[in-house]
Amino acid sequence: MDNAEMDNHETDDYETDNSELNDAELDGSELDAPELEAMADCVPIPKIFHSVYEAGPFSKCVVCTKALLDDETDYMVEKIFRGSETIVEYAICSDCAVAMYSELSAESTGRIEQYLSEKINWQSRLEMAMGTHGDDIAQWIDTCLVTGRPRDQLPGYQLCARCRGPKLQRFIFPLMIAGDVSEDIGRLLSKKTRDRMDGFVDEYLGLSPEYRDIFDGTPLLMV
Ligand SMILES: [Zn+2]
Repeated sequence: MDNAEMDNHETDDYETDNSELNDAELDGSELDAPELEAMADCVPIPKIFHSVYEAGPFSKCVVCTKALLDDETDYMVEKIFRGSETIVEYAICSDCAVAMYSELSAESTGRIEQYLSEKINWQSRLEMAMGTHGDDIAQWIDTCLVTGRPRDQLPGYQLCARCRGPKLQRFIFPLMIAGDVSEDIGRLLSKKTRDRMDGFVDEYLGLSPEYRDIFDGTPLLMV
C-alpha cells in the first residue's frame, strides 16, 4: 500500500498518547511490493504451510471461498502455532486481503510499517533471498524476523507466506514472527483496527476461546 492510498483512509482514535510517531514519520518501508514480487522465486508449497484441516495445500479463500490452486491466483497463508500445534490457519486471496487491509486505519498500518522498517534487517533478508537454497525455506522461517530468536525455542509463533497457485513465493516472505512480537505489533494498532481484526477472527477463523489470550486475539494480517 502506498502513501497516497493510505491518505485516503480516515484516521481514528489511537488510544495511547505515548507514541513518538507522528504522521510525518509514517512513511512506511522503502520496499516497493510489485518490484519485490517480480524478484521472488517460487518453490512448491512446503508442508508447514499446508492446511492441517485440509491435509494439503489450502484450496480456497477463507473469506470469499475463491479457489486458490490455479496457477494465477495470489493469496496469503497465515498460521499461528503454539509449540508444534497449529491453533489458527487460513488462506486469504489477494483481493480479500487488500479489501480487509484497506479497512484498517492509516495510522495503524503506518505504525506497523514504521515498526517493521526499523526493526528488521532488510539488507540481510535480501542477501539471503539472493542466495541459492534449492527448494528450502528453512532460513526464512527458522528465526524470528524481528528478534532473530530460533523458532524451536519459542512457545508460540506466527508464519506467513505469499503464494501463487501451487507455489510459494520466496523473497521477503515467507516469514516467522515470535508470538510475543506479534503481540507487540498488535499493541501498535488502534482500538478500531483491533476490533476490526477481532471481527475477522470471529467471523472466519473460529478461534477457540482458550487460545484467545495467547495471541491477544489478534492474528496479524500481513499483506
Ligand atoms: Zn477471497
